[in-house]
Amino acid sequence: MSAAAILSVLRPSPGSLESCLHQTPGRFSAPETVDHVPSRVLLDKPYPENLPTVECCAECNAGLSLDEEYVACLIDCVLAGSVAVDDVGRSKVRAALKRKRALTERISASRSQTPAGIVWHPELDRVRSVVVALARGHSLYELHEPQFDEPTEVSVAPLPTMSAVEGDQFEVSVGYGGWPEVGSRAFQRSVLGVSGPTSPWLSVQPGRYRYLAALDDGITIKMVLSEYLACEVRWS
Ligand SMILES: [Zn+2]
Repeated sequence: MSAAAILSVLRPSPGSLESCLHQTPGRFSAPETVDHVPSRVLLDKPYPENLPTVECCAECNAGLSLDEEYVACLIDCVLAGSVAVDDVGRSKVRAALKRKRALTERISASRSQTPAGIVWHPELDRVRSVVVALARGHSLYELHEPQFDEPTEVSVAPLPTMSAVEGDQFEVSVGYGGWPEVGSRAFQRSVLGVSGPTSPWLSVQPGRYRYLAALDDGITIKMVLSEYLACEVRWS
C-alpha cells in the first residue's frame, strides 16, 4: 500500500460524542463546537492537513483557547529567555504578545533572574488543563477511548531538565499489550504495518508537536511541545 493510500485510510474525522469531551465530571454539556488536537496555536503555518478535531462545548472551547495560547507563548518565552516580542522565535507568539499586554505581563511575572540563571514559575494549573485536554483528544481520536474522568497521573517536565535515564524512559515507545479496538486508528496503523507491536511516536509538525498514544493496562498519552515540554498523561 502506498504512503498516500495509508494516509488516506488514516484520514482524521471528528470524534462523535454525546457530550463535551472536556466537561467537568458530573456536569453535562452538549457538544457545540470542535477543538483541533493539537490546537493550532501550538503549530506554525502552513498547518498539517487533516488535523484531528474533537467535539466540545463553547465554554470549554473558549477557556481552553486562552490556556492554549498562554502555554504556546510561555514555551516560546522560556526558550528565548525573554518576554520581549523581538526575542521570541515564533511569529504567532510574537503577534499574541504584541496584541495582549495582560498575557505578556502574566508571563513576565513568572520569570525571575537568580544567581543560577533565569527561573520560570508558570501557572501550572493552566499548563495542566491544556495537557489533559490534549491527552483526552488523542485518546479519543487515536484509541477510540473517550476519557471524561480525571487522569490517574499527569507529569509535565522540560526535556532539558530530565536526566539521561528519565529522557530514555520518556522516549521509549509503549507496548499495546493487547489488540486495539477494531477501526480505531491504532488498529489501522497496526494492521497496515505502519507501526509494529508498539505504539509509535507520531509527528504532527517536526520540531513543534509530536505525540504517542498507547493502550496497555491503561491509557498512556505522551506529547512533546516545541521539543521542549515533555508531557505524559495516564488513565489506569
Ligand atoms: Zn465543555
